[in-house]
Amino acid sequence: MELITVRDKDYSGKRVFVRVDFNVPLDKNLNITDDTRIRASLDTINFLLGQKAILVLASHLGRPKGKPNPEMSLAPVAKRLSELLGKDVKLATDCVGPEARRVVDTTKPGDVVLLENLRFHPEEEENGEAFSKGLAELADCYVNDAFGTSHRAHASIVGITKFLQDKAAGFLIEREVNALSRLIEKPEKPFLLIIGGAKVSDKIGMLKNLLDKVDTIITGGVMAYTFIRANNWETGNSKVETDAIPLAKEIYKELRKRHLEFHTPLDHVVADKVSEDAHYFTTERGTVPIGWTGVDIGPQAIEEYSDCIRRAKTIFWNGPMGVFEIEQFAKGTIEIAKAVADADAFSVIGGGDSIAAVQKAGVTDRISHICTGGGASLEFLEGKGLPGIDILEKRVIQ
Ligand code: AMP
Repeated sequence: MELITVRDKDYSGKRVFVRVDFNVPLDKNLNITDDTRIRASLDTINFLLGQKAILVLASHLGRPKGKPNPEMSLAPVAKRLSELLGKDVKLATDCVGPEARRVVDTTKPGDVVLLENLRFHPEEEENGEAFSKGLAELADCYVNDAFGTSHRAHASIVGITKFLQDKAAGFLIEREVNALSRLIEKPEKPFLLIIGGAKVSDKIGMLKNLLDKVDTIITGGVMAYTFIRANNWETGNSKVETDAIPLAKEIYKELRKRHLEFHTPLDHVVADKVSEDAHYFTTERGTVPIGWTGVDIGPQAIEEYSDCIRRAKTIFWNGPMGVFEIEQFAKGTIEIAKAVADADAFSVIGGGDSIAAVQKAGVTDRISHICTGGGASLEFLEGKGLPGIDILEKRVIQ
């Protein structure tokens, strides 16, 4: 997949509408607790500023459900971005209409405007035509750097490009697409898929699509319990996504046909409840005793999985191995994070919780690529086109 990128264009003196993903977490005092998403677009922003463009940045934040909500204002983001850029960032208190127009009209080359939360208008998620046109009227050209939202056909991702023909991908999108394409186009073998977490049906399509690419699959979390149950083995009180069992059975059949190496945990940490003060112990087998809940992979599984990771040359990991938010049940996930960091492999991690796990393990900088968009990366690997990316492909534009 070859994209038109900002590198292919000349932006000097132009107004550029840049769709970014500044959907950062805020605490109850509206302080930003993690500014990774803002930093992730700095390359693109600085590149455009270097060309003396006028930047009109737009993002969503949280789920305001189409209505203004001061708790989801981008004001804290404007402040943080000003600090990171070392220059004033003007916040327009609306993203379309006279207020947005007024702020944008006062700019000169090299200025940065941040529009207020796009999702204060229901038309953003509905991909409304008049709203898309309203956004487009603020600029001469369009850049998408919001990878995490590019699987959504929203006004600022898709609708706007009908009115701004001059469009390109920013560096963040380019990096994400290159890393994910490397997984599916020419992965160095063996290719290992590590899949865990709780949202089984969101991920199982991706697993199915990768069956022809991967050599080994290791599972943890609710994903593993769903497969164990699909095999009619005992899972006790462990959380299982029962709706996904038929698909898990189908995948077992495909695995047998292809002779792929597929692992569920050899042993488990099981607890009487999922809480800090639970009683827990380690099983000596791959099933969970009746009355107990599987909350982490056990030491034999860690050893076996670490061996798979050492042998791999390409790794994609999505989803923790257990309830890693609870200290006693985090060991499996942390050990897997360390093993992935130690591996001599091209490693890609997607999904908020797996990213939190590598941060907790202190190994973030030893992972080849960390995806900023969990859902978008899953849909990409599932083989579904992403509406916001497909329209930036060279062969579509030229
Ligand atoms: P996901 O967003 O699908 O990656 O799921 C992440 C969540 O899965 C985390 O909040 C974990 O606590 C949860 N999780 C992982 N393993 C288990 C398990 N065995 N039982 C219940 N929840 C789990």
